[in-house]
Amino acid sequence: MIPLPHLRRPTFSEVLALMGRPPLKGTMCSCPFHEDKRPSFSVFNGSGGHEIAKCFKGCFCGDVYELFARAYRCDRKTAIRELNQRLGIAVSRFELDRPLHERFLPVRKACQRDDRLRPDLALSRGDDRLIVNLSSLRFIPGDALRLARDRGFLRFALYKCRPSWVVTDRSGVLMQARRMDGQLWFKEVKSITVKDSDASHMLGIGEAADADVIHVCEGGPDFLAVHQVMIEADRRGLMPLSTTAATAMLGASMRPRRASLQDIKARRVIIWAHADEAGREAAKRWKRDFWSKGREVIVIAADEVRAGLKDLNDLVSAKGGTEAAVSKLEGLCHE
Ligand SMILES: [Zn+2]
Repeated sequence: MIPLPHLRRPTFSEVLALMGRPPLKGTMCSCPFHEDKRPSFSVFNGSGGHEIAKCFKGCFCGDVYELFARAYRCDRKTAIRELNQRLGIAVSRFELDRPLHERFLPVRKACQRDDRLRPDLALSRGDDRLIVNLSSLRFIPGDALRLARDRGFLRFALYKCRPSWVVTDRSGVLMQARRMDGQLWFKEVKSITVKDSDASHMLGIGEAADADVIHVCEGGPDFLAVHQVMIEADRRGLMPLSTTAATAMLGASMRPRRASLQDIKARRVIIWAHADEAGREAAKRWKRDFWSKGREVIVIAADEVRAGLKDLNDLVSAKGGTEAAVSKLEGLCHE
């Protein structure tokens, strides 16, 4: 079922009330998806002519159906049906109120990204004390962190009044921050994607254009940890550091953009999958995205290297884990 164009849409006021949320004050209210003292959830009229809401912290952007679907963890179709039913909005089926071809005109994407947007956060390279602190927080060797920093992927910042470490790259379109004290943001999230970031950007892909070998990992911690694997692979003469690049998608649901893969020359891509369902599925999709004639794409899940471990950060922080990961890699590359 699609929301029929001649039927009215639920309003955000109605849906927030249904969810038992406090009402809108003007066009703002507190965000249903993060602990929010000052209202950062804004409702406005989108380009498609209907209401859109956006959380300024970046946790939501969408229409009423998206809000409902997200809040109740259902799909969009279910959200449309539920809302129409609960709010008594009639669903007609075969009445042609307008010519068919008009009804099926593609709907404009509700919330398109403005490509000129960039996250705005003052980043620093940090000093060795920060590297040492982060090393003991994540159990990733300092040399790997220094390499990631020198390649422009690791930065430090004061974000929301907290000392934070930030993953980014030279494009500057994506920054994701985690707290240096290892605590959760707002007691619920491990990382925050800085406002105005392009969350679906693949970190490091621009830097990887000329590399022979590209590592692909999921999430900020693995993005740092993979540099230790690269150092070890270089030490063993398996893959020289100078021609090896690291990249990361910051979520299992993200996919690299086709355009960003066009210039990739690498003959070999190594995907380090998280050992969970979402991680394995993501790795499968990324494998297809990277596949091309004459290129080898290898997927290694953390638990294939050592049973019970979830990700590359786990592996690198376990005793002998990096060596085991590189041995696994060596075995697969010589097959
Ligand atoms: Zn929010």
